[in-house]
Amino acid sequence: MHVDISEVRCALQDERVLPFFQPLVDLRNGQLVGVEILARWQSAEFGPILPGNFISLAQENGLIDSLMSQVLGKAAISASILPAPLVLATNISPIQLRDLSLPNQILHIVERSGFPLDRLTIEITESALIDNLDRTQTIARELKAMGCKLALDDFGTGYSSLGHLQALPFDQLKIDKSFVQSMTKTRESRKIVAAIIGLGHSMGLTTVAEGVETEEQANMLLWLGCVQGQGWLYARPLPADRLPELIAAPPRPVSPELSTPGDGW
Ligand code: C2E
Ligand code: MG
Ligand code: MG
Ligand code: MG
Repeated sequence: MHVDISEVRCALQDERVLPFFQPLVDLRNGQLVGVEILARWQSAEFGPILPGNFISLAQENGLIDSLMSQVLGKAAISASILPAPLVLATNISPIQLRDLSLPNQILHIVERSGFPLDRLTIEITESALIDNLDRTQTIARELKAMGCKLALDDFGTGYSSLGHLQALPFDQLKIDKSFVQSMTKTRESRKIVAAIIGLGHSMGLTTVAEGVETEEQANMLLWLGCVQGQGWLYARPLPADRLPELIAAPPRPVSPELSTPGDGW
């Protein structure tokens, strides 16, 4: 699919980029731990468009702050029905870590909604970290001082060294879905996942598995000591109007309705 930047600009003007929510669950009992915000563009022309088609474009053209303001702003309002201790997780783009005003931007966006900052997790991808460690440290410390949690997203696929784990105040490691998905097929991936979980434990970090699609994966993760996850086994990303039912009836594994392709693409 070819998307033009002018179309992204229009989509933001028309507020057609919306937050969807994917449940984060406790793998031991299927209980809801929180939700991750995933941006979805509802295009009149092309239909639903995934972030892979527009996030980097927005990032390269100075639109990422406005995208965050819309998506996180709307998400925080919708998520204000989440009872404590459920968390809201948001992704930020690498380029946003160059901007020392990021913590303040997040503060202003989320403050308006009344969602508590101490239940907000900021997900950072590994590639973002190498750019400028000093600045990333300043931003990370400020976010922590605001009460936010920090997650290292897509762990294992990026370029950062383990030194970054030491230098930055992470609370959480998210195991990339590529490992989760090959884990049940190859011994090597299984060992990598086991090593990531072990690393998380020894550093006092929560490990969260992404892309859990099968019972076999969920069971293996539990056996390896990872207790949080998200994936189609539990639910696809869902629109805001499905949040109440998610809170009322947390997704069980292979909940036929919530994990059917469609809503969350
Ligand atoms: P991510 O943060 O690593 O999010 C996880 C991705 O895995 C999402 O893709 C999600 O829909 C997908 N996923 C979840 N469960 C499963 C599963 O069981 N199987 C498979 N195959 N995939 C699963 P999505 O929604 O296409 O988002 C892609 C990436 O775009 C995200 O990766 C995140 O880095 C970025 N992104 C999404 N929304 C935003 C946003 O609002 N702002 C920024 N800056 N980046 C965003
Ligand atoms: Mg993420
Ligand atoms: Mg990820
Ligand atoms: Mg990813």
